[in-house]
Amino acid sequence: MLGCHYTMVSMSNEYSLYCNINPIKGQLKVSGTITIPATEESAYFILNRGLRWTKTARLTASGYQKLNALETDIVEVPRFYNGDLWTFDIQKSGQDEFVLEIEYSGQIHPPTKDSEMPAMGYIKRDFVELACYSAWYPVPFNMETNMSFELALESPDDWTWEANGKLQKVEDSENSAVWRWKQARPVNDIVVVGLPKRDAHLDQDSLFWGPRNLAGSHKILDTSAREMKELLEEWLGPIDTQEPVRFAITPRKLGGAYARSGLIVVGGGYSTDVSLRKPVLQAMCHEICHDWFCKASVKTYDNWLDEALAEYCSIMVTDDYLNEGYLESRVEKTLQGLEKQGRIPSIKSLTRDQEEAYAAYYFRGFLLLHEISEKIGRTEFRNMVGEFAQICVKNRIVTTDIFLEFMEQKLGTKAREIANDWLSFDGIGTPAE
Ligand SMILES: [Zn+2]
Repeated sequence: MLGCHYTMVSMSNEYSLYCNINPIKGQLKVSGTITIPATEESAYFILNRGLRWTKTARLTASGYQKLNALETDIVEVPRFYNGDLWTFDIQKSGQDEFVLEIEYSGQIHPPTKDSEMPAMGYIKRDFVELACYSAWYPVPFNMETNMSFELALESPDDWTWEANGKLQKVEDSENSAVWRWKQARPVNDIVVVGLPKRDAHLDQDSLFWGPRNLAGSHKILDTSAREMKELLEEWLGPIDTQEPVRFAITPRKLGGAYARSGLIVVGGGYSTDVSLRKPVLQAMCHEICHDWFCKASVKTYDNWLDEALAEYCSIMVTDDYLNEGYLESRVEKTLQGLEKQGRIPSIKSLTRDQEEAYAAYYFRGFLLLHEISEKIGRTEFRNMVGEFAQICVKNRIVTTDIFLEFMEQKLGTKAREIANDWLSFDGIGTPAE
């Protein structure tokens, strides 16, 4: 089974990719190097089914050594990744790391129908969205692996791009431009989004980026988003980056939002309807919260922690900001929403790619934290969460056990008992009093 042979040792990969995107033809061509630790479990990658390896080699002290890319199904790829699992026939040789030279090209295939997953990645003539879900780069299968990267992206010169790294420069040549980013911190994904400049909403003073017809109207959310982010920083402390948070709005209709080291990608954008302002502000805050809460594995139930903490903190800050009883109404709605779904297995027994995980992690997870907060004392609980946020910032991996241990230290055994009861509760709604 998955999970048992994963150790707590967290590892880092270094990616250096040169990538050419042709939005008209929907094609991608990538060459580059990946440096990985010389361990068995680090040599597994997921790659989109529409992409074909054209070169796989290993760089050693004595030169290049050709490698064979081998498709494998020794473990199942979680269904939110749209790709196959690959490994290479690397001979061990006592080094600390492997340097892989790779080339691949092709098209981004959408998920198969029977996976029932939305197309989160695509190369279209009017928009490109690429992240780990579409496995547009060889995604390390061991999700405890973080990546630092250098990315050069060659595309038509009338396109504009965003990525989850620091933009170094844009070099124009005849009909194309090369955009270069660097991400020195270890992160869990490489994300690029882009569109033709003529369609783009480009406003230095706005947190929102994307197609003019979608992103332009978001300007009215700018002030609130900034002010709420400040409230979060007061509570949760500094994060380890100076990069300002940005929201990239994409035309994708399904699949929602994901946050990657300061870049928040939102399919379809947020509603700017006044009647939906409160839940929209909370949803934006939830994504900003992932600047702190993004270190739990998505392959184990630990992922509940990132989502429940992002829900809890965003709901509390929305309540602070609006001062209109948002918390009470939200607790009630969440409970109703959870009960309506009928029996939901325990948080502990679910992984993110299972259907019931959403209700368990977001609804029951939030209610769990709220329960402890009300039983122990809101101020004490919030202070504990603030300190824990800094543990998340400083560590590569965060687990439920690390959280429970820390909470017990700060708030006592009662808090941990409540959490344990709720985490193993299997049934409708929440555990009875
Ligand atoms: Zn989230």
